Amino acid sequence: TEVHGNNFLRGVVQADIDAGRLAEGALVTRFPPEPNGFLHIGHAKSICLNFGLAEQFGGQCHLRFDDTNPAKEEQAYIDAIQEDVRWLGYQWSGPVRYASDYFDTLYNYAEHLIQAGKAYVCELSAEETREYRGTLTEPGRNSPYRDRSVDENLAEFRAMRDGAYEEGSKVLRAKIDMASPNLNLRDPVIYRIRKQSHHQTGDKWCIYPSYDFTHGQSDAQEGITHSICTLEFEDHRPLYEWFLNNLPVPCQPRQYEFARLNINYTVTSKRKLKALVDEGVVAGWDDPRMPTIAGMRRRGFTPASLRKFCEMVGVARSEGIVDMAMLEHAIRDDLDKNAPRAMCVMDPLKLVISNYPEDKVEHLSAPGHPNRDDLGERTLPFSREIYIERDDFRESANKKFKRLVLGKKVRLRNAYVLLAEDVVTDAEGNVVEVHCSYDPGTLGEDPADGVKPKGVIHWVSASHGKKAKVRNYDRLFNHEAPDRGGEDFMQHVNPDSLEILDNCWVEPGLVEAAPESHYQFERTGYFVADRCDHSADTPVFNRTIALRDSWGK
Ligand code: ATP
Ligand code: MG
Ligand code: MG
Repeated sequence: TEVHGNNFLRGVVQADIDAGRLAEGALVTRFPPEPNGFLHIGHAKSICLNFGLAEQFGGQCHLRFDDTNPAKEEQAYIDAIQEDVRWLGYQWSGPVRYASDYFDTLYNYAEHLIQAGKAYVCELSAEETREYRGTLTEPGRNSPYRDRSVDENLAEFRAMRDGAYEEGSKVLRAKIDMASPNLNLRDPVIYRIRKQSHHQTGDKWCIYPSYDFTHGQSDAQEGITHSICTLEFEDHRPLYEWFLNNLPVPCQPRQYEFARLNINYTVTSKRKLKALVDEGVVAGWDDPRMPTIAGMRRRGFTPASLRKFCEMVGVARSEGIVDMAMLEHAIRDDLDKNAPRAMCVMDPLKLVISNYPEDKVEHLSAPGHPNRDDLGERTLPFSREIYIERDDFRESANKKFKRLVLGKKVRLRNAYVLLAEDVVTDAEGNVVEVHCSYDPGTLGEDPADGVKPKGVIHWVSASHGKKAKVRNYDRLFNHEAPDRGGEDFMQHVNPDSLEILDNCWVEPGLVEAAPESHYQFERTGYFVADRCDHSADTPVFNRTIALRDSWGK
């Protein structure tokens, strides 16, 4: 059963085409990240939305870095963001673009507003500016600098550009309406002084345009038809339109808003994710517990699962909180269908098969996947000594325990039926070895006495298996709403979000696993060969997700 969320923006675009406002194939959208951190699952929604619409309507989608705040931006983020978008399976049209590509144009637009008497250089302090702005219930007051002449404003603005003034001493403001009920229209700041070099433009500028002054005009430069953003920009739309209406822009993009994605048990804010990295709570932006695209990739999420998730979530204008279980379902479903099966013993207990010849090896065959013939067969060496999970053996147990019990039988997955006959214990009485006998007639057959063992357990040949490290990841937060209600989200970090097991044994075929190959470890969960740390010499697998949802149970 395919679940598809609604996407009202498909209807908006279709209606524009039907009404002749938009030519067939003329849709242009953009994804405009600020390069001040790695992208997270919320950005994935925006990427799927913008690139998805372009794909569906045969249009184009641009990638544009919204880089007006050089102090917080870095080349490393620019690189990571491009990699994330490509990994999700999208390719932007044309070159990578930067809002800073338009700094000259934006500067000229600012002078254009000044010439038209619609912008002025203001010298109120930040605090005074706030005070003059008024509140939602009280109109603002005009700045004493509001009525400067065009010539004075031009001279002042050029002096700002030329570095004559200190940071914070002057700003350029649009002259709109200090009594507007919309605070964004009360003479917003459009340029500020920042003596800061920029990753794209170097030291060319010491004044930088504000986000609001940049965004719509950049959209217009690029011929964006539908500029899609999250709901917090709804109140900025009148300003977006005011600039477009008062400047000689080449076209008139339209802004549409949708509800941002919120998921429980996590945080989706770059600032908070950065704090987790900076404070060493996680190993980095791509730590497999992070809700970043790079983190989820390392965790073992697939692009298809994230795209599917975004499709299921849908696009609407009403805010809501999506259950983490939905994201987990998307990846579990994908891996169940597509991940080859393998065996891995995480907490090994040695089992010696007394009636199996010491130097004999059989190469048993097992399906790569129960219902995917295209995934072929895998070879499982079988020998006298094997490992099983310590948990899968008990000296005595009641009938509910359908695994190996002393004096009873169990089936080894894809192999024979065994009977546990004896145990070897250490000085403390811990079982260190189990001695068994096997029934040679039970390969793919029931035992001759017709009594089928109830349990099937996984195993790995002790002399052929490879030692591996397994990292079991769990949710990063143990609170449903870690950052709501004004609480410090750090206090809700799950202290048990990572368990490292470094004495695991995997079937030998897994040593050839390329980094980022996905598996279902039978009876255990879905795992991925770590993108960075896995190699044939030191196999490392990350648990993507358990077989079944056991959270809170
Ligand atoms: P953050 O608050 O995490 O820094 P942001 O909105 O400032 O997020 P940007 O880099 O500006 O981050 O975002 C790029 C695009 O992704 C914007 O169009 C933004 O609206 C969208 N976006 C960001 N977060 C979400 C989210 N949670 N759900 C949907 N879209 C989002
Ligand atoms: Mg932003
Ligand atoms: Mg931000």
